[in-house]
Amino acid sequence: MQVLVYGAGQLAQMMYLDGAALGINVMAVDVNNNTVVHPVSKSPLDCTLEQAIELADALTVEFEHVPETLLEQAQASGKLYPGIEAILVGADRVREKQLLSGLDIPNCPYQIVDDLAQLDECVARLGERLIIKASRDGYDGYGQWRLKAASDLPALKTQLANLDLQAVPLVVEKMLNFDREVSLIGARSKSGEVVVYPLAENLHHEGQLHVSVAPATNSTEALTEQACDIFTKLVNGMDYVGVLAVELFQCGDELLVNELAPRVHNSGHWSQAGSPTSQFENNLRAVLDLPLGLAVNTGGEASVSAMINIIGCDDHKLALLGIGGTHLHWYGKTVRPKRKMGHINVTASDYAALGEKLSALAGYLS
Ligand code: ADP
Ligand code: MG
Repeated sequence: MQVLVYGAGQLAQMMYLDGAALGINVMAVDVNNNTVVHPVSKSPLDCTLEQAIELADALTVEFEHVPETLLEQAQASGKLYPGIEAILVGADRVREKQLLSGLDIPNCPYQIVDDLAQLDECVARLGERLIIKASRDGYDGYGQWRLKAASDLPALKTQLANLDLQAVPLVVEKMLNFDREVSLIGARSKSGEVVVYPLAENLHHEGQLHVSVAPATNSTEALTEQACDIFTKLVNGMDYVGVLAVELFQCGDELLVNELAPRVHNSGHWSQAGSPTSQFENNLRAVLDLPLGLAVNTGGEASVSAMINIIGCDDHKLALLGIGGTHLHWYGKTVRPKRKMGHINVTASDYAALGEKLSALAGYLS
């Protein structure tokens, strides 16, 4: 079987590696030049994009910002999973908010802005602490601005003056004082089978994910149920096929959806070491309509898991192998500041043991 992934970064690479073990071949599309490449070496394969689409049993994406013309071509093949509508929801915060409102799913109070003058109204309605997000092409905190006091508004407007808000409106959100960030990752197959992973607890720094822990500490049954209900509403509402990631803010006992990713997600990388089936394998299984694999913490020495991103450096990476129960995944990219270079998965029998391993790792990573 063959799967064609739009995007040739680390997520396609990890789908390839898990697919290979099952005899499933994964090819990647470099969307910068529409060439079909090997997901690990990135060297061009001997086929055109059209031939690869023809050859593939299913097409999927590793990121949502794929040019729309390419998505339309993929959708026309009848083999794109998730479908174009779901991918565009993930790529456009305005569509995302419309979907959440339409399905009556709690999310952060917001206003859509297509003229900077409307920002005054946002401050009046939502308060002076705002997070302002470009509706398209943002990721890892890029394409976002923060307003901390109404007195900073004139300076912020000057900073945003060059944006074409008619073409790409802003989604302005109230800055929430949430208790923590969690995410739910799950998969739905073509036949409608659904599995969800345990909630992950996510630590961000400057808008970028640094650490995930799964299961999230203090995951009560009620919290897990709430997250699963949201997930079920979303996948059924979109007739979704593939892995879907739902980023959530926890405020007291309530979960609010922050954003959706129509693909495998950084906060699910722990599943490579901590679950019988990784999110990458389950994405392949879902889009190929194979039975889904168990999406649980493995148990025993892998009862709890953490994932630590290695960001913007490539120092000492192999030294990390000296710490028992850690698994390094290196993406082979050129180092740049704030770039995700790789990650480490850590498993342990309980949170106390996990904490000890993380402390040992911190010594290497600081
Ligand atoms: P990205 O596509 O860059 O991941 P997000 O909308 O998830 O964009 O924002 C990145 C991070 O910024 C979030 O994980 C969270 O830490 C913070 N953030 C986003 N929206 C809000 C908000 N309304 N209130 C407080 N923090 C927020
Ligand atoms: Mg996010």
